[in-house]
Amino acid sequence: MSADVKSNLQIINDKIRQVEKKSGRAEGSVKLMAVSKFHPAEDVIAAINEGQLLFGENRVQEAGEKFPAIFEQFPSAELHMIGSLQSNKVKNAVKIASCIESVDRISLMDEIEKQCAKIEKTISVFFEVHTGEESKSGFESEEEVEKALSLCAQGKYPHIIPRGFMTMAPFTEDKTLVRKSFVTLRELSERMKAKFPQFDMPELSMGMSGDFEIAIEEGSTLVRVGTAIFGERDYSK
Ligand SMILES: *Cc1c(COP(=O)(O)O)cnc(C)c1O
Repeated sequence: MSADVKSNLQIINDKIRQVEKKSGRAEGSVKLMAVSKFHPAEDVIAAINEGQLLFGENRVQEAGEKFPAIFEQFPSAELHMIGSLQSNKVKNAVKIASCIESVDRISLMDEIEKQCAKIEKTISVFFEVHTGEESKSGFESEEEVEKALSLCAQGKYPHIIPRGFMTMAPFTEDKTLVRKSFVTLRELSERMKAKFPQFDMPELSMGMSGDFEIAIEEGSTLVRVGTAIFGERDYSK
């Protein structure tokens, strides 16, 4: 195992509690997702043994190779898909994930609905929104997000439960830009929650290893942390 998962988890959880407190957030209002992409199942199991149950993966194939065996051993473990998702991967994604956080287009919702209907599963989704200059994923405009929610409200997606919003801040040293991106998502989510009160959408998935403190200050309810828990990813594998 490459990183000391146990002590890293302790450090991150302590930091989350500290920033919650400092920024006036309720204790425990921020959940931690351990992003295990490019790390082996044994690292995931090490994290589970420390009480970490929520994981995130980018690629359906990798998640499909790793997680079914983990779920068998640890039924309370949970997986969210967080990477941009091709429609032909949805069938396998909805089998293993409890939530798709990277919903970035209406055609993807059509496919999620179709595949979930087949296996009679309802799935939670977050709407991923493009909030920073450099990142490329996510709905491009608020109008598009609103359209997606309108379709949900019209009953077009009975197997999809909107639960919140997700974004990736731009990869920059400029903390002002990072913060701006998180504020943009929070404000958009407030407007959508007001427009669609029939949906319970409390989640704001924002913040990664390098910027989760700022994200918590700006209202994140779910931080997605990979490197700071599992160490650097080896992309050559
Ligand atoms: C990889 C990834 C993360 C984790 O990034 P780290 O910098 O390793 O913490 C979070 N969110 C998404 C969408 C990712 O792709």
